[in-house]
Amino acid sequence: MSKKQSKKFNVVVNKSQLSEQICREESAQLILSPFVHLFNIGETTKCLFNSLTLKKAYLTNKKYEKVLSDLSKGERSNDVKELIELKFVVPQGFDAEKVFDTVASSLLRKKPQANLAYILVTDFCNFRCGYCFIENNLKGPSIAMSKDLADKVINVLINEAKQVPEFRVTFYGGEPFSNSEIVFYIIEKLEQASKKFLFSCVTNGSLITEDIAKKLKQHNVAVGLSLDGWANIDKNRVFTDGKETFYSALKALAILKEAGINTGISCTITKQNYMHAEEIIEFFQKLGVRTIGFNLLTRLKDPSQFEVPDPKKLAHHLFGAYLKAKELHMFEDRIDNRRAKYFFKEIFHIYDCPAFGQLLFFSPTGTVGPCHAFYPSGKYQIPIKEDLKIQEEALFHKWLEIGTLKNKECMRCAAIGICGGGCAYDIYVKTGQLGIKEDYFCTFQNEILKLLISYNFLLESQKNKIAKAKS
Ligand code: SF4
Ligand code: SF4
Repeated sequence: MSKKQSKKFNVVVNKSQLSEQICREESAQLILSPFVHLFNIGETTKCLFNSLTLKKAYLTNKKYEKVLSDLSKGERSNDVKELIELKFVVPQGFDAEKVFDTVASSLLRKKPQANLAYILVTDFCNFRCGYCFIENNLKGPSIAMSKDLADKVINVLINEAKQVPEFRVTFYGGEPFSNSEIVFYIIEKLEQASKKFLFSCVTNGSLITEDIAKKLKQHNVAVGLSLDGWANIDKNRVFTDGKETFYSALKALAILKEAGINTGISCTITKQNYMHAEEIIEFFQKLGVRTIGFNLLTRLKDPSQFEVPDPKKLAHHLFGAYLKAKELHMFEDRIDNRRAKYFFKEIFHIYDCPAFGQLLFFSPTGTVGPCHAFYPSGKYQIPIKEDLKIQEEALFHKWLEIGTLKNKECMRCAAIGICGGGCAYDIYVKTGQLGIKEDYFCTFQNEILKLLISYNFLLESQKNKIAKAKS
């Protein structure tokens, strides 16, 4: 959320003057806001959590019962007054749907505005990872992006970048370095055109040489190296002949580090490694990695071989990994950057996925769309034309209609403020639809919220103890 959006949001949710005024009228019957959710912290404490403002109030069970009793008797005790200030208590008749719609219209993007591109420079890959949603869905021979097509992509990007201060271009595949000529061709052309472009690359590392590493450094390309843990658990990632890939990835990491390249790890979490998430963080820290992104498995037709069966257990293990990353001062994307940051800063997380209006993916067959995962199916893509303006394309507007604030089913969900809607492709594979809620993902999000609420209680208790000891 930008500063401007955040200000607007506060006006809508926190400074709802009408309800404040009604609350202050002594005769008004007051109730807990429908956006306030109740959590038990152990056996003695409750947390009231406002899902829109992400504010929390911790009360002993006794105090909570007293508040309920005060509300039912219409007594304006000090506790009730504090909850009115926090907007946890509202007048009876409070129109939750109206507030939700007003928040949605103030926060949601009005038009698509790209600042990120995924370029699939080839759909060829020398790996056969069992869970790959691109490779496992491709039919027919592989295709590499040609120079002519790359020129069209470059023109589209130069035009789109005019409207934003920074534009990140990520090379993806297949394995992008099997078409490294086009990777560096596009980088050089974009660098010549504008200083706004930033570059990254997602790679399995097997084709990284010292020469490629030198060029990556020269163009300041950040690298996301795919690796799922140490040799014994990194078993889903194999070469086309079935041989293990772990040592090839380790060698790539050494070359990239030696060249001084900003390298993070992209670790796919599956049934095979989720219970080791915390140790995976330690393992990569020992290898000198400072950044890690956990990919939740993007759904396959038959996920049973790879998917973690219990989303709550998955949440607990990833939460452990988040705490470990914090302790080791590492950047962890999945829980810290995309959930905890919003929870602690009390900022509503609008979009978890850039495909809702910010992302352009370009395929090697000449199509463009909002999400690269749909590439093999041909869905949600249109032909690339040099004068493409995404704001004029219905396809990109359609993807703005997806998201939690567009979904009335999400309105009463406690986790809406940290959710962001998740991965549209994932939900599509599971349900055949875009933009609806899906049980596995929702259970995961709500469990993460519970863990954050308990963790925050611990932090606050510790702070209070220290403050008491000092006074
Ligand atoms: S998608 Fe699920 S977790 Fe997210 S806000 Fe909607 S109901 Fe809640
Ligand atoms: S919908 Fe899913 S796969 Fe597609 S861009 Fe978003 S997060 Fe990635």
